[in-house]
Amino acid sequence: MSVPDPDELPILGEALAVEFANTRYGQAPDLIDFLGDRELARAWIAAALGRELADAWRGSPVAHRELRELRDAVHALLEARVHGAALPGEALTRVNASVAKVSATRSLELDTQGEALVRTRRRGKTAERLEAQLAEALMELVGTPAWSQLRRCPGPGCSLFFVAAHHRRRFCHPSCSHRARQAAYYRRRQRAQESGESP
Ligand SMILES: [Zn+2]
Repeated sequence: MSVPDPDELPILGEALAVEFANTRYGQAPDLIDFLGDRELARAWIAAALGRELADAWRGSPVAHRELRELRDAVHALLEARVHGAALPGEALTRVNASVAKVSATRSLELDTQGEALVRTRRRGKTAERLEAQLAEALMELVGTPAWSQLRRCPGPGCSLFFVAAHHRRRFCHPSCSHRARQAAYYRRRQRAQESGESP
């Protein structure tokens, strides 16, 4: 797996579990791991969950490896879901193990505007709280409309998951749709040239 530039982090504004899975980008042998080293992982944590958590995450070799293992499990579950396949048991076990690492309590509270909000407090090491939060984000996605609207982008060279909340949305991002149109134009042109016609 190659290591990319932190400026190219694939953040689409999707549900957290979807963003987490998308850190594993592309298909072998051109797989790119946006959690590939500790600094990248920290940049992703800052972008997805905030600078405070990223700064608190020490990123020991074990914590880094376990974060990537959890990500691979979440990725495998989303991939099975978009293909309508049975969810792999090993990945389910991995997600459950991450949630079990910390104790958590939920409370119903009011925000500054007086609106109700559910606050989750987790006790444990930063790396364990991070894993639990990401694993719970996947659990919160299961069974929601977004879970059945999960898609994988068909854009050329793209493999990002996204939630097709509108049935007309076919790509992860307008730039992918644009690249797909360009690729289709190129293919039509190639075919026309092969058959001796103008495109
Ligand atoms: Zn795409």
